[in-house]
Amino acid sequence: MLNKWADNPDGLLVVAGPCGAESPEQLLQTARGIAATGKVQFLRAGIWKPRTRPDSFEGMGEVALKWLKEAGEETGLKTTVEVANARHTEAALKAGIDALWIGARTTVNPFYVQEIANALMGSGIPVMVKNPVNPEVGLWMGAIERMAKAGSEKLIAIHRGFSNYSPSKFRNNPHWEIVIELKRRMTGIPVICDVSHIAGNRLYLKEIAQRALDLDMQGLMVETHIHPSQALSDAEQQITPAELHLLLNELIIRKPNSNDVIFKSTLEDLRRQIDRVDYELIQILAARKSIVDKIGEYKRDNYVTVLQLERWEQILKDRIPFGIHHGLDGDFVHRLYELIHNESLRLQNAILNERKPAEGLNNE
Ligand code: PEP
Ligand code: MN
Repeated sequence: MLNKWADNPDGLLVVAGPCGAESPEQLLQTARGIAATGKVQFLRAGIWKPRTRPDSFEGMGEVALKWLKEAGEETGLKTTVEVANARHTEAALKAGIDALWIGARTTVNPFYVQEIANALMGSGIPVMVKNPVNPEVGLWMGAIERMAKAGSEKLIAIHRGFSNYSPSKFRNNPHWEIVIELKRRMTGIPVICDVSHIAGNRLYLKEIAQRALDLDMQGLMVETHIHPSQALSDAEQQITPAELHLLLNELIIRKPNSNDVIFKSTLEDLRRQIDRVDYELIQILAARKSIVDKIGEYKRDNYVTVLQLERWEQILKDRIPFGIHHGLDGDFVHRLYELIHNESLRLQNAILNERKPAEGLNNE
């Protein structure tokens, strides 16, 4: 599915272009710079821009489809545009755009996704589907499935990160585990990483792109603008075509596997060691659970609440430095203990509220 597009020397599918089409000159100059890298297949440009707040730049609308098409023709790049409803889809098909993409704010809404699917039905046009803004793999899969049912032959998932609910270095939280889950549940689906919308700042593009490739993603989407600082939207995260070229050259492309005999046997040996440690880990967690159950019964019999905040604070204060002392990441230990503690609360809650079968019968 992907191979036909990924004809660049690195075997990656690269989509680049401005966040928004602003003028024919901006688009054409950007496209020329992008084509000169020799590493990009698709020119992207937003024409209808979904903006969080009103009175922001909302895109140039239908007139810009022509600019996109012309920039593609002149540079030999294929073209792609974001569509958010049937009207956009029909206009893009009519203009002869090569591929469509569905934005994160549209993927969340099955009504719009279905409307787009109906509008492109039978056209066979390739579609790239961004993840929804909320971290829900089912919605992402649902949108891809609707496109498949509409007969779209080439489907690609775009990972653009998820809304942040706490302060973070990145504009959108990558939640890499959700992409891995998508790949697991939709075997063979190519995924490319929109590093620009995850980063929110051009400083972080490289580290995110390298991480994506190291997780065996098939390509990248990178917002590229001839004058990034003058961009009408997403100025901080866009880069020039020359910077794009540098970025693509700096990335290390690793292979998903190796057939080297020594590599294989060493890896197998190390994996056996990991298997053993994992079994021990599960046995230790089970031993912890038995104590949690006992404490739960004791609290129940003494009419004491499940949560004692001071105890929880004390656990965190003790375990995080202990973990750090043993070479673990403090944030990881924190998240791990949140998970463990939540599970303990859930188990004890069930114990506190369990009705003994005899009681239940008596009440009837
Ligand atoms: C975009 O690609 O410019 C865009 C609006 O992205 P997203 O749908 O990921 O927010
Ligand atoms: Mn953008």
